[in-house]
Amino acid sequence: MNSFETQLLHTPFDKEDAYHSLSMPVYNTAAYEFDSAEAMEEAFCGRTADHAYSRITNPTVQYFEKRIQHLTHALSVTALNSGMAAISNALITLAHAGGNVVTSAHLFGNTYSFLKSTLGAFGVEVRFCDLTSPDEVRAQIDEHTCALFLEVITNPQLEVADLKTLSSIAHQAGVPLVADTTVVPFHVFHARDFGVDIELISSTKYISGGATSIGGLIIDYGTFDWSRSEKLSPMVAQFGASAFTAKLRKEVHRNLGAYMTPQVAYMQTLGLETMELRYARQATTCLELARRLETLPAIAKVNYTGLEHNPFFALSKAQFGSLPGAMLTFDLASREACFGFINRLKLIRRATNLFDNKTLAIHPASTIFGTFTEEQRRSMDVDPNTIRLSIGLESVDDLLHDIVQAL
Ligand SMILES: *Cc1c(COP(=O)(O)O)cnc(C)c1O
Repeated sequence: MNSFETQLLHTPFDKEDAYHSLSMPVYNTAAYEFDSAEAMEEAFCGRTADHAYSRITNPTVQYFEKRIQHLTHALSVTALNSGMAAISNALITLAHAGGNVVTSAHLFGNTYSFLKSTLGAFGVEVRFCDLTSPDEVRAQIDEHTCALFLEVITNPQLEVADLKTLSSIAHQAGVPLVADTTVVPFHVFHARDFGVDIELISSTKYISGGATSIGGLIIDYGTFDWSRSEKLSPMVAQFGASAFTAKLRKEVHRNLGAYMTPQVAYMQTLGLETMELRYARQATTCLELARRLETLPAIAKVNYTGLEHNPFFALSKAQFGSLPGAMLTFDLASREACFGFINRLKLIRRATNLFDNKTLAIHPASTIFGTFTEEQRRSMDVDPNTIRLSIGLESVDDLLHDIVQAL
């Protein structure tokens, strides 16, 4: 089999285009025409794979999905129009009123709010626990638990989940493990090998590259026995290992209407082709910068799980290798010092987002978590003295120079 770099460019797929275009064209259409009423019936009832309407499938988006599916060896891939759409579609597929989702309070801000407020209003209970304590996780799971949901490296705390331990706890209890892996790309972290059943990715980040567009992916590895799911077990007789994907694609995804658009699929397919190349550069720079920032007296603490003395180093190395992502955080003396630093930056951009080609700086407590109360921020371990850097493709010397002058 070809190497991952080669597969990124030359994954086999069915590319039906009338003009044999080398790139997949952008099929900018809402609907598709049929030759007969019978052909329409077959397509609408799902007996043929023909496209009917672009809220449900579109050739350009399907091509992007198939490329991801070949690269991850997944059962199915669904592309949505944001990472949040991937998270919400997947969790709505699994959760039901009276059920609960076990997770950590260390979550992306919108994910926390989605679970607590949006799903909470429909009678789904959210149980926040300390994922570094296997006993606590085991105690929170019961017969109404719909999913164990987590982020593989949390942001901005950079806490690493022990996935082998957590997946075995979940599977023993008959619960699927759903993981947001946005911070480490799938060629670095092989989610299936660590017991992840459903992988969720904001493709806005590493895949798009250059921050061209917003997108999300739901990857179903077909590993979970859905007969153990309170909600999905009635679908197993007909769909077997595809019960989750069937519920998602035939119901939830159609009803919520958040499918990726063809323009975005085109841009993200191009981004995908250079992902491995960009990641190698960005993550190498991130580690080197983390080492050099530790030597600066103005910086109280540098957090990157690839640093040898980081408390998660060994676990991070076992799961993600020696370059665990291209994001680091560091602490200054106060919130005022953080604001001053950000305001003095000349090269590094003041922006949210992760894994743009350009390096970005943000103060998470006042932005991503700005509308949370002080108490909520404390419970989520979002420190007011922390700066987050997402590392781009610039030279490490230029980045360090900007940081030193801003300090
Ligand atoms: C950005 C991000 C999301 C949300 O993705 P969008 O594409 O912005 O909707 C979810 N989880 C993590 C870890 C993220 O970094």
